[in-house]
Amino acid sequence: MIARPLARLSSVLAMSAALGCRTPAATTPHASETAARETAARETTAPQAVTGPRVRVLGIAQDGGLPHAGCSCDRCVAAARDPARASFVSSAAVIVPAPQHDAVFVLDATVDFREQLALLRDVRDDPPGGVDRAPLDGVLLTHAHVGHYLGLAFLGFEAIATRELPVFATPRLATYLRDNGPWAQLVAQRNITLVETTPGTASPLAADVSATPWRVPHRDEYSDTVAYELAGPHHRVLFLPDTAPWRRWDSDPLPLFDRVDVALVDGTFYAADELPGRNLDDIGHPLMVETMDLLQSRVDAGRLAVWFIHVNHSNPALEPDSAARREIERRGFALATTGLELAL
Ligand SMILES: [Zn+2]
Ligand SMILES: [Zn+2]
Ligand SMILES: [Zn+2]
Repeated sequence: MIARPLARLSSVLAMSAALGCRTPAATTPHASETAARETAARETTAPQAVTGPRVRVLGIAQDGGLPHAGCSCDRCVAAARDPARASFVSSAAVIVPAPQHDAVFVLDATVDFREQLALLRDVRDDPPGGVDRAPLDGVLLTHAHVGHYLGLAFLGFEAIATRELPVFATPRLATYLRDNGPWAQLVAQRNITLVETTPGTASPLAADVSATPWRVPHRDEYSDTVAYELAGPHHRVLFLPDTAPWRRWDSDPLPLFDRVDVALVDGTFYAADELPGRNLDDIGHPLMVETMDLLQSRVDAGRLAVWFIHVNHSNPALEPDSAARREIERRGFALATTGLELAL
C-alpha cells in the first residue's frame, strides 16, 4: 500500500476538528511535512478538552490484563515494573454532563473495576471521606467473559453495596446473572437492577444520549455478546471489544461501522505470526491487519476514526516503536489509550 501520510493526516485532522476529539492521526509520527508534524505535536501534547457528552477510555487490555495474569514475557515484566507500560482491562465510560449531577455509565465491569472507578472521580460528586454507594448511573455489559463482568462483584454487600444500580444486559445474559451465584445475590439483595435490552433497540441514557446493543458473533458459552452503538448529539461511537473474525460473521459487518463515525474495536492480535503454532482458523478474533483491510477505505475517506482496544499482551503493537505500531499509524488507525476522550 502506498503511504500518503500528509493526505491521510490532513483528512483525519479535518475529521478531528469535526469530531471535536483527538483522532488516530493525532498520534501519527511519520508525516514528513513540517506543518503536519507541528499540528500533530500540538494535538498530542495539548489534547482538546471534550466538555459535552463523551466516551472516556478506561483501559485497553484483553481480559488477562497488562501485565497479563501469570505471565513473565518481556512485555509483561516491563509492564509490571513501569505503570506507564501497563493497562487496565478494556472498558470505557459514557459521561453526560448535567447542571446538578453528571451521568456516568460504564461499559463492562472488568476485573480492574475498582481502579477504573477511581478514574472517574473528577466527574462524580463523591461524599467526602467515605464510600460512594452510588458511584455510577449504570453499567452496560457486552457479555459474560472474565474481563467483562467480574467487576460486578464490587457492587455487592462485601464492597460498595450499591442500591438498585441499573445493569444493562441482553435477556440471555440477564437470565444467567439472575440464576447463578454470586451474581444472583446482587439481584436478590437489590444491589443491581437488571435492565433487559433488545438488540437493535436504543436504551436512553440521558436526554440526548442513548446506547443500542448489536449482537456480534463470539464464543457465547454463558451469554450472547453485543457491541454498543453510543449515540450523542453530535457523534456515534461503536464499542466493540470482543468478536469473532470478520469472515465468521453471518452478515456483512460493514453496515454496523457505517452507523458510526468513531469505533473502538477488538484489537486482540496484530497478525497471525504473533501466535506461533496456532492455525489462523483457530484464532477467535479479527486480526488488526484484517480490520485495517476491512475499514481502510472508510478511514481514508475521513468517514470513520478507528481506535483499537482489547489488546492482548502478545500484541507487538503495544510497543510504541514497533513495526506493527508504525504500520497502524501509517494507515491512519491507532491504539486507544486510557484517558482518551471521544465526543458524542
Ligand atoms: Zn474479552
Ligand atoms: Zn505477557
Ligand atoms: Zn469474550
